[in-house]
Amino acid sequence: MASQAHQDLHFVLIPMMSQSYLIPSTDFAKLLAQQQGVTVSIITTPLNAARFQAMIDRARSTSKLNIQLLPIRFPCREAGLPEGCENLDSLTSRSLVKQFFMATYMLQDPVEKLLAAMQPQPSCIITSNSLPWTSKLALKFNVPRFIFHHISTFHLLCAHNIACSGADESVGSDTEPFLVPGVPDRIELTRAQLPDEVKRATEEMKRAIEHMKNAELSADGVLVNSFDEFDSWYAEEYAKVVKNVWCIGPVSLCNKDMSDKFNRGNKASIDEHHCLKWLDAMAPRSVIYACFGSLCRISAPQLIQLALGLESSNRPFVWIIRKEDYSAELEKWLAEENFQERTKERGLIVRGWAPQVLILSHPALGAFLTHCGWNSIMEGVCSKVPLITWPMFAEQFYNERFIVDVLKIGVAIGVKVTMKWAQEKNLGVLVNKEDVKRAIDRLMDGGEEAAEIRRRVREMGEMANKAMEEGGSSQWNMKTMIQYVRKQASLKALAQELDGLRGPCSPVASAVSPGRLMFKSGEAAS
Ligand code: UDP
Repeated sequence: MASQAHQDLHFVLIPMMSQSYLIPSTDFAKLLAQQQGVTVSIITTPLNAARFQAMIDRARSTSKLNIQLLPIRFPCREAGLPEGCENLDSLTSRSLVKQFFMATYMLQDPVEKLLAAMQPQPSCIITSNSLPWTSKLALKFNVPRFIFHHISTFHLLCAHNIACSGADESVGSDTEPFLVPGVPDRIELTRAQLPDEVKRATEEMKRAIEHMKNAELSADGVLVNSFDEFDSWYAEEYAKVVKNVWCIGPVSLCNKDMSDKFNRGNKASIDEHHCLKWLDAMAPRSVIYACFGSLCRISAPQLIQLALGLESSNRPFVWIIRKEDYSAELEKWLAEENFQERTKERGLIVRGWAPQVLILSHPALGAFLTHCGWNSIMEGVCSKVPLITWPMFAEQFYNERFIVDVLKIGVAIGVKVTMKWAQEKNLGVLVNKEDVKRAIDRLMDGGEEAAEIRRRVREMGEMANKAMEEGGSSQWNMKTMIQYVRKQASLKALAQELDGLRGPCSPVASAVSPGRLMFKSGEAAS
């Protein structure tokens, strides 16, 4: 038998099938696999696996990492989904969300079979809070389980405090601000900015949210794509709610070479050389990059206002139009206005998937107009690029408050209410071209406020990069987490050994099961 202290560990990642979970999970999988004696498997569906295969192949062949993708069939038909609907970004209507979650529940049995057949046996499960059934698998295989959050501890704690206090119910209307209780910063939100599933949860939705919360509370801890120096107070406070909190990011920094930055999460819809050549031709810190993540849907009239705002800012821009946002109305406007031609000297339009990390890390980048998805924020900070915040739904309004009010590394475009996902057409225009121009000017005019924002984001970016270096806080936290898993695996092996000596009815194994051994972050590395 391998020495217990040095036995190989097998981390199994089961991320939710959505880009904002899959991308950071794959980055983190690579970081884990770089550690000695660690093997990593990522379980996902065939179409999602195909998006990440080239990235994993590179990690295996170039860096010689022990990492693999394990595809598992997604039961689209059984759940009433169109065939091929394997990622939240491919849902064509809001009504399919329920079926999508039903399909994820159906994965429990096949994943269990996969885990049972694994060699080496799994030592730990890292998963998303939206796949709560994984808690049963962790119990069954007697391994620790961690929730990898793709959101901030700032949001986790604020949402927790609001839910416990009912602070949002103390106001008379959806637009009246209320204060988030129990936090040191003055954070004001309105009910109109809270996620829909919180505001208007049906009984069924409330049960699902409770199920997810319980799965988070019973996990061995949560891993957050952030770094201690960024939201330390919030991480420490949230560690009083769950068993452990380890900030292990920003994970996007594991992508060091061009190929990894370029084809991350999906095949880029632009040629790498063309993209770099275009950026190279622009002045340092001059380009506005406008991209709204993998899920937001924006109506044609709203996109037209954005286009006009970018144009009237008189600065170079890269504008990403998601495939799902193409429409006859937008195409007609672009053609009639000759928009692409008239902005060709300083506008680059990418239709589809952008190589975001590559673009953000280019010295020509001046500002990032973002929907405030947490991964995008982290990626902007790593590249020391100030943010223009345009939150749309989910937890994005919380993130805006953190960026603008707490960290002061960006300016708000001024949107006041959430968009209902896939109902964007009913909402009309929330941000007009003047709002876009005003926010860009505020960040790019070289004034005192803009200079201070730039200074702060540079400082944060340096801290982010340090956190991921050897000896940095995130590296330390990851090693602490691995140590935790190693200790649990050793105990399990010891219990099995003792049971083998004492015969089949020995109670030793259950007495030292990992679930019974708990310790907080600081103790684990000892
Ligand atoms: N992304 C990308 N290219 C695109 C759109 C998105 O690489 O054209 C990546 C982006 O870098 C980030 C992720 O997709 O890692 C989006 O996650 P985020 O949390 O920012 O937003 P969400 O997709 O959840 O709204």
